[in-house]
Amino acid sequence: RAKAAGRGRMVVFDPEMRATELHRVRLEADLAQALERGELHLVFQPVVDLATERLIGFEALLRWTHPTLGPVPPDAFIPVAEATGLIRELGHWVLEQACHTAAAWQRTYPQAQPLAISVNVSGRQLADADLGRFVADVLADSGLPPCSLVLELTETALVDDPARAAADLGRLRALGVRLAVDDFGTGYSSLAYLGQFPVDILKIDRSFVAAITDIEHRSPLVRGMLELARNLGLETVAEGVESAVQRDRLRAEGCDRAQGYLFSRPLDSTEAELQLVNLTGRRRRSTGRTGTGL
Ligand code: C2E
Ligand code: MG
Ligand code: MG
Ligand code: MG
Repeated sequence: RAKAAGRGRMVVFDPEMRATELHRVRLEADLAQALERGELHLVFQPVVDLATERLIGFEALLRWTHPTLGPVPPDAFIPVAEATGLIRELGHWVLEQACHTAAAWQRTYPQAQPLAISVNVSGRQLADADLGRFVADVLADSGLPPCSLVLELTETALVDDPARAAADLGRLRALGVRLAVDDFGTGYSSLAYLGQFPVDILKIDRSFVAAITDIEHRSPLVRGMLELARNLGLETVAEGVESAVQRDRLRAEGCDRAQGYLFSRPLDSTEAELQLVNLTGRRRRSTGRTGTGL
């Protein structure tokens, strides 16, 4: 009977939906073990100062290499982790790894300071009453100066309960870390609430950057967002900069910083460290204290 009912039920599913559902269930089960099986690692995408194109920090991005499926994109597994609550454990791991790595880089390459590290925090994590204490502990353990850590939150994580979010953000900011609104312009009610959130940085979503296709492009939306940020005293970061035209346009409009394939793809930790070696080497040469052959 159960079998017949099961078979009966299956025909109402579109086969594609059924496949997606199976995939999700499988990801969910496998993700729960990914951490202990060592299948997760971080990559680091350089963030540059737009005026000088100098490296000023990295955004840490989570990567999962599934034993049979291969690399699973974060857009596929982060929502699963959020739905199951696993994001808490994963988020803790990401924060720990990112802070310890950045602190080690700051110690090894003091000339590269101040080097910032950005970490994505999901709405589920923000709602966790222990997040502040956890961040404080990780900063203390790693020795990373609080001002070197940027926590990135999406608008969607903030607008569900703006009053609560503002209070949560205030507690985090009191630790001395900086806060960024990620994917700005893609969520709802952004303008209504932005002024109420104690944030420091506004990251312009890459869909707006992608709309800049030629140097004559007046990019009214990007311009408006940059002006808004200036009026609120926020630093601006453009995401997804892929062309020199986009870079030049953003620079002309007064955007402070940028990330994107034009400058660099996300790098593994060895490649990221090489960027610091290069940076340090260049600075040593320019101050005439080289001779190391870097
Ligand atoms: P995000 O935080 O907005 O990160 C930027 C995404 O844009 C990254 O995708 C990055 O690889 C990609 N990107 C960077 N430059 C370019 C470019 O020039 N062109 C294009 N087309 N893409 C570019 P990724 O690594 O696949 O991450 C996707 C999203 O997954 C992130 O968006 C973030 O929301 C989430 N995510 C990643 N790692 C974590 C994590 O540790 N915790 C949480 N909660 N979310 C994470
Ligand atoms: Mg981000
Ligand atoms: Mg983003
Ligand atoms: Mg995103």
